[in-house]
This record gives sequence, structure tokens and C-alpha cells, in this order.
Amino acid sequence: MPFSCSRRRLLQLAFGMVAAGAPGLAEAAPRRRAAPLPLVVLDPGHGGKDPGTIGVTGTHEKRITLAAAQELKKRLEATGRCRVALTRSRDVFVPLSGRVDFARRREAALFVSLHADSAPGARGASVYTLSDRASDSLSAGLAQRENRADLRGGLRLPPVSPEVERILFSLVRQETRAGSARMAAQVVRSLGGTVPLLPNTHRQAAFAVLKAPDIPSVLVEMGFLSDRRDEADLKRPAHRAKVARALAEGIHGWLVRREAGLSTAG
Ligand SMILES: [Zn+2]
Repeated sequence: MPFSCSRRRLLQLAFGMVAAGAPGLAEAAPRRRAAPLPLVVLDPGHGGKDPGTIGVTGTHEKRITLAAAQELKKRLEATGRCRVALTRSRDVFVPLSGRVDFARRREAALFVSLHADSAPGARGASVYTLSDRASDSLSAGLAQRENRADLRGGLRLPPVSPEVERILFSLVRQETRAGSARMAAQVVRSLGGTVPLLPNTHRQAAFAVLKAPDIPSVLVEMGFLSDRRDEADLKRPAHRAKVARALAEGIHGWLVRREAGLSTAG
């Protein structure tokens, strides 16, 4: 990698070149003050009126995802390295855009969506990041859907020309994509040897819930409820604890690398 730094630091560096001393970014990235622990947002898929996939023996995906997220939260908090928030902690429906907004409003460092869907003949865990193609349509979609004020507000950009803003936004998205890919690799490593994996474990798809332009995001399919063995596994708290332990390890590894990147970028 030619360089490694956080998206906020990237913005700070980039903006420093065009207008040094802007108050907005100085406040966003204090240099010497102790920063709060990074926030990991866990997103238990589905909920409320949306049960998600219903397994071969009737297991609701929404229950598995919530139980796994709560277990993972406990394990992550025990490391003392991050704060953790859940997009839902009860059986309620949360729209996909609301999940992304939840993480962006809180300036999450990482977004991890948990699922256990169905697919004919598929078995094992897998990890998804946003595909390049979807990323391109995201940028087109953002231009259409969000007005300039929303976009600027979401990314906390200082007042700069539209051209500079476009470049900064593109840098942020690049850094976000790289962070998502690093996270997917960590999760594949930590899940491997712990639970059965789907072949080509890291896959890419246009999941709406992965579309935050400024937060590294992955979607973990912990297994497939359409597979009898996966369903039986995921119903067992001991198996979910094993998955949570592996995911916590992957997230922990990602946070350590992120911190190393932050310290070398300064
Ligand atoms: Zn799902």
C-alpha cells in the first residue's frame, strides 16, 4: 500500500493543501487530545414485520441475527478497544437507509451487518463488500438523491469549490472501499478454521446497507438457514458464540491495523 491513513486524516491532509487552518476539520480531528474509542456499529439484519429468511425448520433469520449481534457486542466491549452500538436491540423493523444513517450520524469507524439468508445448495459463512459497479452507481445515485447540503453535511466538508469537493469525496470513497476490503479479509481469516466457509468467501454485491460512502462496511452471512446443518448450527448458542468470537477477533485485528495507520499518517 502506498500510504495508510484514516478517511478523516485524509480529508484533513487534502484540505490542508487548499485552505490551511479551517476550523471545521481541526475540530473533527484534534491532534493531541485523547480521541474517543472508535465506534463499531453492528447491524442485526431484518426485524419486526420482516423476519428475513425462514429456515427449513422454521427459524427466523431476524432472531439469529439479533442473538449473534448481542453476543458479538459483549465480546467486543470486553476488549476495551471500541464502543459498540446496535442498529436495533429489539425485534423491530428498521429500514435499510435508517441503518446506514444510524452509523453515519454517529460517525462509526466500522459497520458490520449480520445475516443468515437462504440460497439453493449454499452452505457456510461468507462476507460481502460493495461491488465496484454498485459503488459507481452509488456516486451517480448520491448526486441524484442527495442535495449538495446533505452531502456536505454528511461528510463534514469545509467550504471548498465543487471541484475540490468532488476530489475529496472520491478520496474518501477510495479509502472506505480499501477499509471494507481489509475488514472482509480479516473476517475471512478469523472465520476460517472456525466455521464452514462458502467457497470464494469474500464476495461483492450491491447491498443497500453497505452504501455509506465514508464508513468501511461489510455484510457477514453467518451461514444459510436454507441448509439444514447451518440452520441447526446457528440455532445453538455455542455455535453463535464461536462465530462471535471469530468476528470479534477479525474486528479487533482491523482496529489494530487502523490505529497503526492513524499513527503513521501523522
Ligand atoms: Zn438477511
